[in-house]
Amino acid sequence: MQPDTTTDFLIIGAGFAGLVVAERLAAAGWRCVVADRRPHIGGNAYDEVDRAGVLVHRYGPHYFRTNSPRIVEYLSRFTGWREVAYTIKSFARGRFWSFPVNLNTFEELIGKPATTADFENWLAQAREPHEPPRNSEEVIVSQVGRELYRLFFEGYTLKQWQRHPRELDASVCGRIPVRTNRDDRYLTESFQALPDPGYTAMFGRLLGSSPGIDVRLGMDYAEARARFRYRHLVFTGAVDEYFGYRLGALPYRSLRFEAESFTGGGLAAREPVSGKPGFWQPALQVNYPEAEVPFTRIVEIKHATGQQVDATTIVREFPADWQPGGEPFYPIPAPDARAAYQAYAKLAEAEQRVSFIGRLATYRYYNMDQVVGMALAEAERLVETYGKGGG
Ligand SMILES: Cc1cc2nc3c(=O)[nH]c(=O)nc-3n(C[C@H](O)[C@H](O)[C@H](O)COP(=O)(O)OP(=O)(O)OC[C@H]3O[C@@H](n4cnc5c(N)ncnc54)[C@H](O)[C@@H]3O)c2cc1C
Repeated sequence: MQPDTTTDFLIIGAGFAGLVVAERLAAAGWRCVVADRRPHIGGNAYDEVDRAGVLVHRYGPHYFRTNSPRIVEYLSRFTGWREVAYTIKSFARGRFWSFPVNLNTFEELIGKPATTADFENWLAQAREPHEPPRNSEEVIVSQVGRELYRLFFEGYTLKQWQRHPRELDASVCGRIPVRTNRDDRYLTESFQALPDPGYTAMFGRLLGSSPGIDVRLGMDYAEARARFRYRHLVFTGAVDEYFGYRLGALPYRSLRFEAESFTGGGLAAREPVSGKPGFWQPALQVNYPEAEVPFTRIVEIKHATGQQVDATTIVREFPADWQPGGEPFYPIPAPDARAAYQAYAKLAEAEQRVSFIGRLATYRYYNMDQVVGMALAEAERLVETYGKGGG
C-alpha cells in the first residue's frame, strides 16, 4: 500500500515523550500525526475512573516530582496541581514499618525510643563500607548495614528484577533516601504533585490547545508508516522492536496488576488497619519485601489523588517476565543489558530523519519530568533544523 496522506511529522507513541514533542512542533506551525497502538493517550501515565468510581493509574502509580521549575512551568499550561506527600510503608515480620529508613524505623527495630545520635552510632557499627559502591547490594549495606538491607531491600529487589542486588547497578537502590531524623518522605525533589484532575485530563488539554495534531489510537507503527508520508519520524516505542529485533530482543521486566475495590462495609472493616475512614491501608504505598509474598507492593492511589469518593481501589503489583509482544515496563539496569542496547544505539544513530526519544527508544528508566525535558530539547532541535511550519 502506498502512503496516501501527507503530514510533516509522524510521531509514534502518545505518552509524555510523543505528546510533548507534538505540542511543541504544532506550536511551531507543523502538522503532526501521533499514532499509538493502545486505545488511549497518556502512555504509561494514563489514568481513568474505574468501575468503583475511583481514579486509578492503569499502569502502576505515577508520582510526579521534579527539581525543574521550567518543566513545572511548561506542564502548568495544561493543568493545575495537587501537592502530595507520597507516603510509603513496608510490611515485614507481620507488621508495618516506617519507610524509607529513618529514626522511627530504628525505634521500631529496637523496640524502644531512641535519638538521632543513638541511630547514628548504631549505623556506624552496622555499615559495611564500599567506596565507591559497585552495585545495589554494596550501596545499601554501606548506608544501613546488612540487617536493614535484608529486612527491606534484598527480597524486594530480587522479586522486582529477578536478579540479585549484586547484579544490578548501584543507582537502582541508591535512589531511596536513608535519614537519621524523623523525615519519612519517600522522595526528595522540591516539587511533588499530581496533575489535578489527572494525567489524562492534562494530556487532553495539551491536545486541545494544538489543532495541528492528528491523534490515531489503536494504530501501530507499521500501519502508520503505510498510511502516512512524512518528512521526519519521532519514535518513542522500543528501539529493538523498531529494528525488527535484528540484534535479538533486549531484556525487559514486566508487571501484572491486580486491582480490588472496596465500598461500604468492606471498606469500614479496614479502618483499624488504615487508621482513616475510607481507606484500606495506612499509606499510599506499602512494600512487601518478603519472598513468600508474590507481589512487591500494594498501592492505594486515593491517598495521593485526594478524590472524595465512598470507595477505594488497591492495586497489587506482581513482577513478571517479559516476552516479545508483552508490555516492556522496565529496561534492565545492569551492565549486560546496557551493552546489548549499545549495539541498537549505533543503528539508531545511523537512521536518517528519525528521532529516538523516551524511555523505550533510549532503553533507559526515566522519570516523567526527565522525559518531558528530553522531549522539549528534541522539539527545539527539530525546529532549529526544519525551521517553522506553514501552520
Ligand atoms: C510501573 C511504572 C511506574 C512508574 N512510576 C513513575 C513515577 O512514580 N514517577 C515518574 O516520574 N515516572 C514513573 N514511571 C516512568 C514513566 O512511566 C515514564 O517516565 C513515562 O511514561 C515515559 O514516557 P514515554 O512517552 O517515554 O513512554 P510511554 O509512557 O511508555 O509511552 C510510549 C507509548 O508508545 C506506544 N508505542 C510503543 N511502541 C509502539 C508502536 N510500535 N506503535 C505504536 N505505538 C507504540 C505505547 O503504546 C505507549 O503508549 C513509571 C513507569 C512504570 C513502568
